[in-house]
Amino acid sequence: MSKLTKITLDEKEMPRQWYNIAADLPGPMNPPLGPDGNPVSPEMLAPVFPMNLVEQEVSQERWIDIPEKVLEMLYLWRPTPLVRARNLEKILGTPARIYYKNESVSPAGSHKPNTAVAQAYYNKEFGIKKITTETGAGQWGSALSFATSLLGLECKVFMVRVSFDQKPFRKMMMRAWGGECVASPSNETQAGRDILEKYPDTPGSLGIAISEAIEAAVTDKSGETRYSLGSVLNHVLLHQTIIGLETKKQLAKINEKKVDVVIGCAGGGSNFAGLAFPFVNDKINGSEIDVIAVEPASCPTLTRAPFAYDHGDVAKMTPLMAMHTLGHSFIPPPIHAGGLRYHGISPLISHAVNHDLIRPEAIHQLECYEAGVKFARSEGIIPAPETTHAIASAIREANKAKEEGKEKVIVFNFSGHGLMDLVGYDKYFNGELSDHSLPDEDLAKFTEILKGHPEPIRK
Ligand SMILES: *Cc1c(COP(=O)(O)O)cnc(C)c1O
Repeated sequence: MSKLTKITLDEKEMPRQWYNIAADLPGPMNPPLGPDGNPVSPEMLAPVFPMNLVEQEVSQERWIDIPEKVLEMLYLWRPTPLVRARNLEKILGTPARIYYKNESVSPAGSHKPNTAVAQAYYNKEFGIKKITTETGAGQWGSALSFATSLLGLECKVFMVRVSFDQKPFRKMMMRAWGGECVASPSNETQAGRDILEKYPDTPGSLGIAISEAIEAAVTDKSGETRYSLGSVLNHVLLHQTIIGLETKKQLAKINEKKVDVVIGCAGGGSNFAGLAFPFVNDKINGSEIDVIAVEPASCPTLTRAPFAYDHGDVAKMTPLMAMHTLGHSFIPPPIHAGGLRYHGISPLISHAVNHDLIRPEAIHQLECYEAGVKFARSEGIIPAPETTHAIASAIREANKAKEEGKEKVIVFNFSGHGLMDLVGYDKYFNGELSDHSLPDEDLAKFTEILKGHPEPIRK
């Protein structure tokens, strides 16, 4: 067995194509539906996204070439290291070998720039000058600001109000990269003004910010503005598959032949899918792999929410998508894993869960912070609150391997560092955080809004 701690690839070894799981998933996918209840055509998405990205969104090609210019931008921090978590293994006393893919080494500190640079590139290729988007805690807004700065595009970010007020550092990062950031709901859009009139003190939500960002894009008369989403959609997950494809090369390099468990935290699902989809491909082809998507118990989209057609935003500007959803008006509890609080999750992941290719798991906040601290004090990097969900699950699996006395191989995605999220750690150390399960009554109340939507086919 290899003695390496960091398994690295050089730039020449970086994958040249993304993997599109749509080519391999069993059974028919439920198509996105327009306001008339019919499947949306690519043309209907044209005011929102540039056509070259719409083509990727609906593509059934298994492999899609990564443009040379995108590769050059990715070289700024990729390939990322795969790290053997020896110290963590030691303190757990597990016979398992634990590896994590360190996506925190990107300029913005997470996996999000992988798709940000690709999306900025395709927008620029299409002649777009300005991109609008939403951001929760600010990770996506900062990643897109970084990417647009490389290509000389303008970037406008609608940031969920509560984070705008409580998390000033990512706002400053956006500014440093030339992005413009406003608190959402704002007075700049009809969607924002409507919400502010009804709920002047609203903390905001991703669903509201998405409505604002789409509206700002489609109402720009120049025709040179488009909208960008940092997760959930097929093309976003596609761009993230470079994570899992690199991981496979790295495991092969140290002769690690069989992976038993693959883990990622899941908000909209992009970092999870990025690592997991190339392994789900192996699973479709007969390998036995436990593929685990971890979400917060307070926002249990995959573990408890219904599979239904729902909008991606509050103002219903997006098509209806077939996904596990807590309802588009869901207001999440104020847990610290800001990136895991979205009401829906990627249709591709929802579909794979329905087909038992992915196993969802919900974990409470305190167990996650405990895992995050254990990781920081053994492996060094302070994880983002989102990432602690993957770590907590990896620790559960390592402990299981210990009980079973099995030398399992566990790989998880280290989606980002927590250096901008230290306030959450401080609250944890002060004993100010508690566990929160979404009560059944609240789940029933929020999903009420799904009544009357068309029924997707589950399998
Ligand atoms: C945004 C974010 C997430 C959640 O988004 P996904 O699309 O589910 O990956 C997880 N971890 C980090 C560090 C993030 O920034």
